[in-house]
Amino acid sequence: MNILLLGAPGAGKGTQAVRLAERYGIPHISTGDIFRYNIKEKTPIGVIAKSYIDKGQLVPDEVTVQIVKERLEKEDCKSGYLLDGFPRTVAQAEALEKFSKVEAVVDIDVPLDKLLKRITGRRVCGSCGESYHIDHLDGKTSCSKCGEELIQRADDNEQTVASRLDVYVKQTSPLTEYYAEKGILKNVNGMGSVDEVFDRIISVLG
Ligand code: ADP
Ligand code: ZN
Repeated sequence: MNILLLGAPGAGKGTQAVRLAERYGIPHISTGDIFRYNIKEKTPIGVIAKSYIDKGQLVPDEVTVQIVKERLEKEDCKSGYLLDGFPRTVAQAEALEKFSKVEAVVDIDVPLDKLLKRITGRRVCGSCGESYHIDHLDGKTSCSKCGEELIQRADDNEQTVASRLDVYVKQTSPLTEYYAEKGILKNVNGMGSVDEVFDRIISVLG
């Protein structure tokens, strides 16, 4: 199945994507993870991406679309994929349609006023990518899955988050309407535990 996950920053896309990819046996493709990998490796794409991500802005569509196109051409996407963080603009969605057919779009809905606290309290594993929230860590500083150290993402500070949320409202949220009109949008309430949200997603995907 070709699935897209939509939702604001901090809605829980990444957390759910890891679990869904495992459940359906399809690759989890996160444009945010691809950019962070390129930034770490200091590739030309990484240098471009960093200049936008640090300001809480979107990386230009030409760059992002090309990366996704190349990734979806790989053999492991033949039996389906889970896209997390792409598309983020209507232009990206239109570009995607030209090279792949999306079958289901899940929008994880969390009220805007809950997102800031979720994101600024987020800690991620630098190795396996698992996300945590400081409220549930009891002071632990390492990943309970793989033992590596937890870090705060460079773009998870209050100032950058404000512009990411603004970008989401203006540029990304129109996508829900876009996919609703195509009849493939499924809304899921993103409040509650990780397991509760996961169960809701599984049930809408059928
Ligand atoms: P989040 O969902 O928490 O905002 P991501 O890891 O998905 O985090 O993305 C981090 C940053 O990477 C975004 O704020 C944006 O700058 C950039 N980015 C990720 N995906 C895209 C995309 N599809 N188009 C443009 N920029 C993107
Ligand atoms: Zn880990």
